[in-house]
Amino acid sequence: MSSTSRSRWLTDELDALRDLVRGFFAKEIAPHSERFIEQHHVDRDLWTKAGDLGLLCMSVPEQYGGGGGTFAHEAVLLEEQARAGDSSWGVSLHNGIVAHYLLAYGTEEQKQAWLPKMASGEVVGAIAMTEPGTGSDLQNVQTKAIREGDEYVINGAKTFITNGGQADLIIVVVKTDVHEAASGISLVLVEANRPGYRVGRLLDKLGQRGQDTAELFFDDVRVPTSNLLGTAEGQGFIQLMQQLPQERLIIAVTSVAGMESMLATTIAYTKDRQAFGRPIFGFQNTKFKLAEAATDAKIARVFVDDCIERHLQGELDIPTVAMAKWWTTERATVLADECLQLHGGYGYMTEYPIARAWVDQRVQKIYAGTNEIMKEIIARSL
Ligand SMILES: Cc1cc2nc3c(=O)[nH]c(=O)nc-3n(C[C@H](O)[C@H](O)[C@H](O)COP(=O)(O)OP(=O)(O)OC[C@H]3O[C@@H](n4cnc5c(N)ncnc54)[C@H](O)[C@@H]3O)c2cc1C
Repeated sequence: MSSTSRSRWLTDELDALRDLVRGFFAKEIAPHSERFIEQHHVDRDLWTKAGDLGLLCMSVPEQYGGGGGTFAHEAVLLEEQARAGDSSWGVSLHNGIVAHYLLAYGTEEQKQAWLPKMASGEVVGAIAMTEPGTGSDLQNVQTKAIREGDEYVINGAKTFITNGGQADLIIVVVKTDVHEAASGISLVLVEANRPGYRVGRLLDKLGQRGQDTAELFFDDVRVPTSNLLGTAEGQGFIQLMQQLPQERLIIAVTSVAGMESMLATTIAYTKDRQAFGRPIFGFQNTKFKLAEAATDAKIARVFVDDCIERHLQGELDIPTVAMAKWWTTERATVLADECLQLHGGYGYMTEYPIARAWVDQRVQKIYAGTNEIMKEIIARSL
């Protein structure tokens, strides 16, 4: 599709990064994507290859081994990942979420210990909030970290954890005070080599099948109290609320790029595929469906570009990013379905990118706070 405008947040430097990232996806991911899907995880050395190229922790300051860039650098990576149709590599969580919790709340020692290793790919990060019994109702987590001397003893279970299979460092949402709701929540760093820590099943999912989403178990896992993220217990809920906007913007950025990519794929397909002696693009229904999809993608692009610009200036508010998260994921799901329909039976075949996009996209309405929770947040601001 011809684009009439260029996002204002893009620069020549980001264009060069885009070329680098595109090449990385073409060389290191596309040829292996079927295998990643079969084994339910990427190859471990994908992380170090990305680290060697400077693609990890791009928005972390150089003093901690990062690229010294901004969210714009992460956005370029996310867009290219969506365009490549990859849903196996949990880099957005590693770069855009886990590293930023450490950066925002970690002690100098924690930052020096973990961020350079996350930037090189030596350490893979995960964040474990969700439990079998609670997802949206985060205040109700049951995993406990009970203080014994200068250690926490952690017991509990987490589920649906992105990068769970490969993670070396997990930010675990725990109750340090089981008698309190939000104010009892803390974030504690758990290294995967701690005795009592165990990775359960790699979960068999509808989409994102190459991603090592896992169950995690904590049975009397002991960590030093210096593994608390932040300076005091009970700060976890506030920390989560402060970081979730970037997580939700990541989802919105991915959704828009996915919409643009699905649209481009479908335009090309419908111009090529013939029925009744002409390209199916020639039918009025096809043209109208694609016109609607192009309009949705354009509106989403303008909205999300505005969110990115605001975020780069530190001015993106929580209700606005909640709007971007629910609306783009909802529209992307509708667009995926319409585009799949225009592919006919081929749209149902997993070898066609639109089929993969259709299933991969669906979860965007669910994680990082469900779309219903987004609407709760927006409604509270009205
Ligand atoms: C592929 C995948 C990857 C994930 N990665 C991670 C990860 O890395 N780390 C992590 O911690 N979690 C992760 N999650 C978990 C995800 O964030 C949760 O699934 C999500 O927050 C919803 O929680 P739940 O599944 O317990 O659903 P529930 O909270 O049980 O919700 C079920 C339904 O009830 C609705 N509902 C709940 N409360 C309300 C309300 N107040 N008002 C209206 N409706 C409501 C929900 O919107 C939903 O439709 C992942 C999930 C998936 C599927």
